[in-house]
Amino acid sequence: MSDGKKSAFKYDYLGSDPKAIQRSVSNHLVYTIGKDPFTATDHDWMMAFSHVVRDRLIERWMETQRNYYRHDAKRIYYLSMEFLIGRSLEHDAALGNGGLGRLAACFLDSMATLNIPGYGYGIRFEYGMFRQKLEDGRQVELPENWLAHGNPWEFPRPEVSYRIRFGGRVMEYLGPDGRRHFDWIDGDVVVAQAYDTPIPGYHNDTVNNLRLWSAKAYEDFDLACFNMGEYTHAVEEKTQSENISKVLYPDDSSTRNQALRLKQQYFFVSASLKDILRRFSIDHDDLQELPDKVAIQLNDTHPSIAIPELMRILLDKEKLQWQLAWNITTRVFSYTNHTLLPEALETWPIQLFEQLLPRHLQIIYEINRRFLLMVGNLHPDDREIQRRLSIFDEKGERRIRMAHLAVIGSHKVNGVSALHSELLRSGTCKDFHEFYPDKLINITNGITPRRWLLLSNRPLSKLICDAIGHDWVRDLDRLEDLVPLADDTTFQERFRAAKQANKTRLAGLVKHYLNQEIDPHTLFDVQVKRIHEYKRQLLNVMRVIALYNRLLDDPHADFVPRTVIFGGKAAPGYFMAKLIIRLINDVADVIDNDPAVNDRLKVVFIPNYDVTTASDIIPAAELSQQISTAGMEASGTGNMKLALNGALTIGTMDGANVEMREKVGDENIFIFGLTTDGIEQLKRKVYHPRHYYETNPELKRVVDMIGNGFFSPTNPNRYKVISETLLNSDPFLVLADFQDYIETSDNADACYRNPEIWNRMAVMNTAMMGHFSSDRTIKEYAEKIWGVEPVSR
Ligand SMILES: *Cc1c(COP(=O)(O)O)cnc(C)c1O
Repeated sequence: MSDGKKSAFKYDYLGSDPKAIQRSVSNHLVYTIGKDPFTATDHDWMMAFSHVVRDRLIERWMETQRNYYRHDAKRIYYLSMEFLIGRSLEHDAALGNGGLGRLAACFLDSMATLNIPGYGYGIRFEYGMFRQKLEDGRQVELPENWLAHGNPWEFPRPEVSYRIRFGGRVMEYLGPDGRRHFDWIDGDVVVAQAYDTPIPGYHNDTVNNLRLWSAKAYEDFDLACFNMGEYTHAVEEKTQSENISKVLYPDDSSTRNQALRLKQQYFFVSASLKDILRRFSIDHDDLQELPDKVAIQLNDTHPSIAIPELMRILLDKEKLQWQLAWNITTRVFSYTNHTLLPEALETWPIQLFEQLLPRHLQIIYEINRRFLLMVGNLHPDDREIQRRLSIFDEKGERRIRMAHLAVIGSHKVNGVSALHSELLRSGTCKDFHEFYPDKLINITNGITPRRWLLLSNRPLSKLICDAIGHDWVRDLDRLEDLVPLADDTTFQERFRAAKQANKTRLAGLVKHYLNQEIDPHTLFDVQVKRIHEYKRQLLNVMRVIALYNRLLDDPHADFVPRTVIFGGKAAPGYFMAKLIIRLINDVADVIDNDPAVNDRLKVVFIPNYDVTTASDIIPAAELSQQISTAGMEASGTGNMKLALNGALTIGTMDGANVEMREKVGDENIFIFGLTTDGIEQLKRKVYHPRHYYETNPELKRVVDMIGNGFFSPTNPNRYKVISETLLNSDPFLVLADFQDYIETSDNADACYRNPEIWNRMAVMNTAMMGHFSSDRTIKEYAEKIWGVEPVSR
């Protein structure tokens, strides 16, 4: 494969002129889909067309892979439990919960566009993120059987499969070299089979690969059982092993104590590592070269079992000495941290871990023993620091702290925004930062401008291309060429018209799918993201209630007519988040049925927020709600998408909002609320939410209405737990930020009343978002962590 000969393939061997495409569609309809053009459904035509596109990707995919071999290129392997790819012509591939999975998808797009040999590795979940439906304002979860109608984008690779072991025991033996060796044997075996999805770059003929693993039974049917009449038993075993890749856990923070979740993690990590080593050994026989040819990025701690797994392979299979194996391992791995919240950091009970992965536990003990020895040498009299840094949490049920394992086993660890990385260094990972002063770095997240502007917002893309050309699609900093146009009233007017077209389109979709009227001439005020207490959708509804009260008190008040749009899924077991969804819908109902206000205030909850709905909503947004409790949102990427599409941010000093403010300037963003320090101080002094309630009549009235059943007259106690929580503990400091939020929202309204001011600010937001392209993010990973450069073609 790497014989250096030029490939026989020409890129576009099949042709891309209209005639060639037409002919290919007809051929695929008949020969691939097996349909007569007279009876073919729209779906059949779509499948045929997808195959036509796919054919043209395959040529380029093969050529790209050959080229990587020719250059003996260093490969980047992005290991992630989730890839939220979204729609490719038709169905939305929802193999992720939210930000983390979407980041992985944006990174694949950027790596391909930058000619970086990046491979995604993950799980081919049969059921993706659940579909959300609303029934009487409540979230109902429906299974997302996304493969039911076939997936034209994937190639099953039955020949690429690996046996993955669980359980069993560790055998110790004396090798011919006179050393003790270990071998993991027995237990249950599941087969991981590869499915490949081509990932094209933007107009560059590079096509990278996303390889997802599906679990298959090791032996389809145990014939011995079958003969003894235990047919059902044999089928049961088969079903059990195939359960591993059955369903994505719908929890956007860690899911505790789930043996199946741990199995999923090891399953895809082990298969991926075997595959990576197989590819490496095609052209290399010295494992010491591994770090020169392979970089593995761990997207959060979910794939961090890769660290002991690579150690196991190097020690037990390749018979390397510990120190050499460890040196190779730490140079290969790097880890991205996505959370500061100690309760969201992943840990596994030692007992469960030992049952499934006994050899890995031994290796982790040894990693920890050697690490704590070094810590002990540096701090001989400090037992406490050893306790804090240990991989094992010894309080209560003993647990493995996966973040500690990931930090110790990686050469670089990155946070995902400047603030988040700073808080990691000064707080959550302070001891580690002192121990490894160069390890913790920042790489601020980004989003792909191809999907989040070019594809999803045609009116604005066209306007931008007409004004400054199309270089921005690959080089988003070029959007700064729009800055001089921010003051140009003709351009402002065109910018506004593009926004208007998107608003009208969204209103049409809302009418069509939800049968609700929203007025596209009102301010579109948008909060779309997972429903979580720290993201404070509750604070937003409380503002809506306050606005409603103003209209009730003064029907002739000077009021900016607005449509407040919510969207987002709650984890199925997250009681408070689900209650907040219901409250939003109950508030929407009361306002809708009040003719005194419903021409100026409207609330709509758009169900099933996913990449497709995001692409419909975001281009139409004017005000972007990014209001998390400071210090709790690692970065956010929704904030970037909305600002890129010309929405103005109202937000707290949290995550990447801080850097967005630096870029657009304080005059082009609405910042409010407590800072991370302010929150710390308040919490240290003992926080009294009731104080705010008692001294702020507008706030008191809102909290009382929630608590006394104003929005749930048939069940007045429905939201009591919300008002009680707010008054008694308010862990997300909603009450502390309420007043500043309302005033800042009023400020935003004041700007909106003057279209010239607002449009100028909106243009400046689009113009100054270049920094938040995932191309920039990937270039930083390439330079600061992976040590790779684009491969020339
Ligand atoms: C971008 C995106 C997210 C992340 O949004 P945040 O506001 O950063 O939490 C979640 N879900 C989908 C579908 C997205 O496209």
